[in-house]
Amino acid sequence: MRDPRYDILFEPVRIGPHTAKNRFYQVPHCNGGGYRDPSAAAAMRAIKAEGGWGVIFTEQCEIHHSSEITPFIELRLWEDRDIPALRRMAEAMKSHGALAGIQLAYSGVNGPNLYTREVPLAVSAMPIRTFTNDPVQARALDRSDIRNLRRWFVIAAKRARAAGFDLINLYGAHGFGIFQHFLSRATNQRSDEYGGSLENRSRFVREVIADIREAVGDVMAIALRVSLDETIGDLGFSNAEMRDFVEMNRNLPDIWDLARGTWEDCSGPSRFKEEAAQEALVRGIRELTDRPVVGVGRFTSPDVMVRQIKSGVLDMIGCARPLIADPFLPKKIEEGRIEDIRECIGCNICISGDMTMSLSRCTQNPTFMEEWRKGWHPELMNPKGESANVLVVGGGPAGLEAARALAVRGYDVALAEAGRELGGRVARERRLPGLSAWGRVADYRIYQLSQKPNVEIYFDSNLDAASILSFGFEHVCIATGARWRRDGVSRQHVVPLPIDGAMPLFTPDEIMEGSLPSGRVLLYDDDHYYMGGVLAEHLVASGCEVVLVTPAARVSDWTFNTLEQHAIQKRLLELGVEVVLNRGVVAIGRGHVVSDCVYTGATREIGCDAVVMVASRIGNDALYRDLRAREGDWADAGIKSVRIIGDAEAPGPIAWATYAGHRYARELDTPDVDDALPFRREITELWDE
Ligand code: ADP
Ligand code: SF4
Repeated sequence: MRDPRYDILFEPVRIGPHTAKNRFYQVPHCNGGGYRDPSAAAAMRAIKAEGGWGVIFTEQCEIHHSSEITPFIELRLWEDRDIPALRRMAEAMKSHGALAGIQLAYSGVNGPNLYTREVPLAVSAMPIRTFTNDPVQARALDRSDIRNLRRWFVIAAKRARAAGFDLINLYGAHGFGIFQHFLSRATNQRSDEYGGSLENRSRFVREVIADIREAVGDVMAIALRVSLDETIGDLGFSNAEMRDFVEMNRNLPDIWDLARGTWEDCSGPSRFKEEAAQEALVRGIRELTDRPVVGVGRFTSPDVMVRQIKSGVLDMIGCARPLIADPFLPKKIEEGRIEDIRECIGCNICISGDMTMSLSRCTQNPTFMEEWRKGWHPELMNPKGESANVLVVGGGPAGLEAARALAVRGYDVALAEAGRELGGRVARERRLPGLSAWGRVADYRIYQLSQKPNVEIYFDSNLDAASILSFGFEHVCIATGARWRRDGVSRQHVVPLPIDGAMPLFTPDEIMEGSLPSGRVLLYDDDHYYMGGVLAEHLVASGCEVVLVTPAARVSDWTFNTLEQHAIQKRLLELGVEVVLNRGVVAIGRGHVVSDCVYTGATREIGCDAVVMVASRIGNDALYRDLRAREGDWADAGIKSVRIIGDAEAPGPIAWATYAGHRYARELDTPDVDDALPFRREITELWDE
């Protein structure tokens, strides 16, 4: 069934004492579960094994209590008691013939040790470099500390072997991981034999790899995850220096795992980074070594993957987000089902799980991190229940996913959409600058629905309660979405703002539907996710002079969690948007708004010709309320249930909507268990007093 063009992706690759069954390599990636949710994380890795990956890694695993990257939830291998949880993960990874890898991390200057309270040890004494600017500094490792650290790596490697792992990945990329800190002049300012020349800065990693080889190298392969470019020129570990490093240490690890020097660069969202964005930095490195090379690039297209291999850029295809979105990516290529691949949209919602210390979720794959908690499989649905049919009202992400998943379960599904296009908000938002890849949320589901004989789609069907009552469907799922508010109610204002009707005012919906202000436009962003920043970009491109006013201290503040805040603010500043931070809007007058300082309350007028109001959204729940008001008529109409889901129930990011649609489909015809927790969880075992 496989297209022979893709055969090359399924060739085995030798990595030290092991052989990966194919070229698909799941690079280490966080998931927000880590040590808190070990079985959930293990089950997520098991699904990837089932999906056909040749190599599967854990997220970063902290090797010693003197360095922890708190508050982020990763794995720990501090003592033997940590081994069972990791063994569960290794066994899950190996369940379908994948090699099981563990990423050993010592965070050094990235570890504030908020939990263990140990004084952080770093290559050089300096303030801790974290997302949270913790007011903590690290002291420099002295020679005896370095000897200890080498020993701790060996102890961790032995524990990893006891847990059943085949590969060790030493972390030295993304700005995290002590190996990068030693290699980079920015974080290594030592004057002893570990600092100064590249030869000296490479000493520590050479020593650790030699130590680990001696201890476990006959049964474990060693990958070195090393920074491709720290993007601070000669001050840091540049791409040119990285190439010198590989050349000097040609066959140091069993595989070179190449990633960018900052996480924001490596995991850039599709808004700012194309597929295979790292190619120029990687090209040519393979010629400097005899060992295989793996790299990432949000690869979702098998043709791009093949090109990376055939053109000699990479030996293995490294993926994190593409396989979060579709754990079965290799299997689908192998079975000739390319069109079934659920492509990552590059929104980085998955990363927000790590950043907010909650379980990661995925816009495209609602089952991510629910494999164990809820028993959800990304490709299989639970068997159909007793009912026969469902009417889904609304063809946005929630309605599309509900219809798709219900159809897989075996229900007859009618999907009614008021407009002439499926996709709902995604159909509109994909036309905004940088968001075209987001359209994959709709594209994947529309194609899947087109393949199902038990789905009927009705366009131009703006349904009301009376017509729904006349149809005779057993279940009605209302997924009618939401509209942006005009009245300013959001975080700053819990009641509407005074607005002079003479001021031209636009909501994001109106702009996406084609309306455009002109002249000097004040965009008030009290939403704080991507919409305000994207619209500012769109307005500039449409010829407006834009002033962005937000009560937050940063533009698109929440996008800090999706690693794009910096890029967004940079772009807006470069486009000439006037950015006004820490200020709200208290009134909209004729030709101006009254803006207030969030700290002092002092007001001033800002002149403008129009206002774009990016406040909050309000669910389109009128149809649901009408149906509820006629609950007495349901039985005669053959209706067993009416539910409201997605943005119509409570507006949120797209991932919340696909999750709601999936959950609806999973739970239809299953009995409600009142007051019961709707998922499994692990509780810390009490110490035996
Ligand atoms: P969500 O993110 O929850 O899926 P969206 O706003 O993206 O919500 O999509 C909602 C979809 O529902 C839109 O395509 C809209 O046209 C459609 N819709 C809204 N009201 C009705 C209705 N009464 N009948 C049919 N479709 C509707
Ligand atoms: Fe891709 Fe977004 Fe899913 Fe992350 S959350 S894997 S970026 S689709």
